[in-house]
Amino acid sequence: MARVALVTGGTRGIGHAISAHLVKAGYKVAANYAGNDEAAQKTAAELGIQVFKWDVGDEAACAEGIAKVEAALGPVDVLVNNAGITKDGFFHKMTAAQWREVIRVDLDSLFYMTRPVIEGMRARGFGRIINISSINGQKGQAGQVNYSAAKAGMIGFTKALAQESANKGVTVNVVAPGYIDTDMVAAVPEEALKKIIATIPAGRLGKADEIAAMVAFLASDQAAFITGATMTVNGAQYIAG
Ligand code: NDP
Repeated sequence: MARVALVTGGTRGIGHAISAHLVKAGYKVAANYAGNDEAAQKTAAELGIQVFKWDVGDEAACAEGIAKVEAALGPVDVLVNNAGITKDGFFHKMTAAQWREVIRVDLDSLFYMTRPVIEGMRARGFGRIINISSINGQKGQAGQVNYSAAKAGMIGFTKALAQESANKGVTVNVVAPGYIDTDMVAAVPEEALKKIIATIPAGRLGKADEIAAMVAFLASDQAAFITGATMTVNGAQYIAG
């Protein structure tokens, strides 16, 4: 029977590409999103999947949303924690609201999304948790202390949960993209983007498809022995040890 995959932020950008790759690989896919109904409906029609709107930084909304997904498609076998936001600014000017919002959506969401599905995965002896972090969680980035902290936190979460889950057939991994050509990066001013591309040895931005291909591999049976890992996909911009 087809496995069920839930992709947060699965309607746009990297998440859209992940949803598309998982559909192609034969999964029953549910894509969550926050508020852009138009993009969500477009993705639903294009990929033939169901989309579900809730805020991944809200614990009760996650419990309710996951229950709806499971009622529609069955228990979640693959969870991709992809939804994420930025609220950039230098730390000496950063407000507590900027800090809290990024930690809430990018890091608290890992607890709110993973906690309701992991007991079922353990009981069934199979599960895949794939967390989309960032190069900036690995190397740090000026102007993104909040985002770098949240994205580095995802890596610690992954390492610890992988150790707890390995003997139950549940793997937990991170994919850490470099700069990828999506709406998030389109929001970076042109001059700043040119400077960023100059620091990428591959000489270009990455493609959402290149991240999605890695996620689809980590979700597969062949990746059963890969757990607790951080898969860096960044055109050699930063080579993590
Ligand atoms: P986009 O901004 O293009 O898309 C974000 C997606 O997440 C949308 O579907 C959005 O929904 C959803 N989302 C945002 N906030 C919430 C929320 N609170 N609850 C539920 N869904 C939410 O982002 P990208 O595709 O660029 O990024 C995807 C992930 O990859 C993020 O975690 C990001 O940090 C990470 N990343 C991206 C890089 C890049 O270069 N683009 C580089 C490194 C990491 P809606 O459409 O409704 O707004």
